[in-house]
Amino acid sequence: MTDNSPTPKVRTRFAPSPTGFLHIGGARTTLFNWLFARHHKGDFVLRIEDTDEVRSTEDSVTAILDSIRWMGMDWDEGPSDLTQSRGPYGPYFQMQRLEIYRKYLDQLLKEGKAYRCYCSKEELDAMRRLAQLEKRPPRYDGRCRRLTDKQRGELETAGKKFSVRFKMPADGATMVPDLIRGAVSFENKLQQDLVIWKTSDGPTYNFACVVDDHLMEISHVIRGDEHLSNTPSQIQIYEALGWSLPRFAHLSMIMGPDGTKLSKRHGATSVLEYRDQGFLPAALRNYLALLGWSTSDSQQIFEEDELISKFDLAGCQKNPATFDPVKLTWMNSEYIRKTPVPELLEMAKPFFAAAKVDTAKGPALEKATALEREKYKLLSEIPGLVSFFYQDKVEFSQKAMDKVLRQPGVKDVLNGLRDDLRGFEPFTEKPLEDRIRKFCADKGLKTGQVFHPLRAAVSGRTDGPSLFAMLEIMGREKVVSRIESAAALLSA
Ligand code: GLU
Repeated sequence: MTDNSPTPKVRTRFAPSPTGFLHIGGARTTLFNWLFARHHKGDFVLRIEDTDEVRSTEDSVTAILDSIRWMGMDWDEGPSDLTQSRGPYGPYFQMQRLEIYRKYLDQLLKEGKAYRCYCSKEELDAMRRLAQLEKRPPRYDGRCRRLTDKQRGELETAGKKFSVRFKMPADGATMVPDLIRGAVSFENKLQQDLVIWKTSDGPTYNFACVVDDHLMEISHVIRGDEHLSNTPSQIQIYEALGWSLPRFAHLSMIMGPDGTKLSKRHGATSVLEYRDQGFLPAALRNYLALLGWSTSDSQQIFEEDELISKFDLAGCQKNPATFDPVKLTWMNSEYIRKTPVPELLEMAKPFFAAAKVDTAKGPALEKATALEREKYKLLSEIPGLVSFFYQDKVEFSQKAMDKVLRQPGVKDVLNGLRDDLRGFEPFTEKPLEDRIRKFCADKGLKTGQVFHPLRAAVSGRTDGPSLFAMLEIMGREKVVSRIESAAALLSA
């Protein structure tokens, strides 16, 4: 089949239902839509599908918008705050579009492509139970589709509440042309007459979604494969309304490391939890890009521009992707390593505030942070690893106390070091190293007998950054006074 129609402008959308936080799967869907739009210099639209009045919340809208913003993905059209939106196809909150849906509902009713269904919840439940008993798929049996005008009139006169169902073809098949999976065929007899308008007087997802994707001129519907089974009904609705189809791409499912569908059991699932744990947005983005997509050379780390320039749907796999927290953490440490320290510190600010590390008193934070940059896996670890520089009084770990400081001869070593370093110039890494090594040789001590107590005395710890670089950054005054305090503690 050749398609001679001009290629439409690429317009993608992410259309969350605001019934919870933005989870890893939703973030991956957002990312793929955003990358695809940016790659093709198209538009990325954000649409809030808030028609589930019971479960939709403003908190959820806030969390979703915050998550997408935090991940550094901008939208060209969509919400500007909790109720307002901007863009030529707005509004972008479905609850503000009810009149639009009503118009197309009326069209379908008028053309006999949809019908009012007066079945009560009890009747529908009974229908479902019977189907279960008879081991049939639990579908609506179509009884209101067959009502006579007279019966319908009576129900109307009785003021019976109704929903509206879409007439699905009874036989044949609906083919979903999918850019990732190829053609997927669904037997129509297995689909039921779908409710497109609820008794509570509003559209259902499948209906509103089709109307909006069409009116918003969405060229590519890229979404998780849990929606693949909705697509045949949606395609039937497009056809009933006389509209051409967008392209569809259903992204592979995301599994946890144990091979079951990713869920809370596997740990954090919300984007904001990852932010709060100390992941970098760029690292999470890079990691999520590889959940179901790859380049032919299996590149792992991408610059942002590179992700945009290399992303395509041809590289998307239909097999499930596995979410691997260990790999994500590794990627985060790679990003920490390549991010300039001032930027890292800007992002780590909330963690410093939470850890109550007052960095005003002490060495320049940039220098302290740079010392151990290779070790950080999470931004949240940074305050804890540099905090000793800023303590008024060194907090000694149990290990530093028992294994190092409380060993025979340590007090003398510390007193000797204090005298040796008190007037020492220049107090910089290399000269310090030479001087302290000479101190060891002069006293006939092994380096370990001096280095370990010195580290423990000034930092309270048994491990940490390179000793001499750490001394330089701490500065002579603090080093000498800390050695003195530790020695005094041992005398006490
Ligand atoms: N509101 C739907 C959801 O959050 C969107 C599905 C779609 O992308 O069509 O799952």
